[in-house]
Amino acid sequence: MKKDQLLSRLPSAAVFTRRRVLLAGGAAAVGAAGTAGVLSLGPGAEPAAPAPAAGPPARRAVKPSAYRLQPLTGYGPPRTAPARTVVRHEPFLRMSGRGRSMVLTFDDGPDPRYTPDILDTLAEYDVRAMFFVCGEMAADHQDLLSRMADEGHAVGNHTWSHPLLTRLSRGRIRSEMERTCDVIEEAYGDRPQWFRAPYGAWNRAAFQLGAELGMEPLGWTVDTLDWTAPGTRTIVGRVEHGAAPGVVVLSHDAGGDRTQSVRALRDYLPHLLDSGYHITVPRRLHA
Ligand SMILES: [Zn+2]
Repeated sequence: MKKDQLLSRLPSAAVFTRRRVLLAGGAAAVGAAGTAGVLSLGPGAEPAAPAPAAGPPARRAVKPSAYRLQPLTGYGPPRTAPARTVVRHEPFLRMSGRGRSMVLTFDDGPDPRYTPDILDTLAEYDVRAMFFVCGEMAADHQDLLSRMADEGHAVGNHTWSHPLLTRLSRGRIRSEMERTCDVIEEAYGDRPQWFRAPYGAWNRAAFQLGAELGMEPLGWTVDTLDWTAPGTRTIVGRVEHGAAPGVVVLSHDAGGDRTQSVRALRDYLPHLLDSGYHITVPRRLHA
């Protein structure tokens, strides 16, 4: 796969700062966060015995009940449908919240040659991760999506055929997204709440259509560049050097020979856990 370049140029610090402000607490923050559907780490993701440094998620200041009331005020009759997903102009690149939480994401699968090994490692350490699947892969390997659901992993939409969205018509983009939502719903049991553009190549249509389909855009903080097969040790080093609270790690479980990605996970996952990191999946406040 080609390098996912574009996101590295996005203003991650600015995104993070804005979200920190939204989560800073108080009624205003509740309203803003509610409207924006700010990322949060849900209570279901908390381990029984978190590391000393890991605190509870930033939910304390943001009551779901308060959030639900906010958008209805002054906008006519209450909606029966879930709150609309706001159209973003850039993807989330990291997670908010306190504590040493990180998110591991695996793109382009599922692939029966690699995904089961990754799931085995995650299960061995009782860790939940995120899989941005492609519809055409998911359709052929629905059993793997079913396993992801059974084992508590999050599944996101990574389009049907992994095209460069910036070269597609709006109709094609919609089709790529919708078909993938449908196959995920069928095999995984829920519609995806997250979308990630192939190659990190976002455009306005991707944000708009993703929002229409109820998905938030998620990029990443640390790119392992595992698709270049740089060597297992190099991948491990990139994850361990990039480790920090809120970091979202990009790896791949398909799209080529991912043997190094599989081996690297076995190496860095226990190290991250030993370092006090809590590996989790993102949750949306209003989900
Ligand atoms: Zn991809």
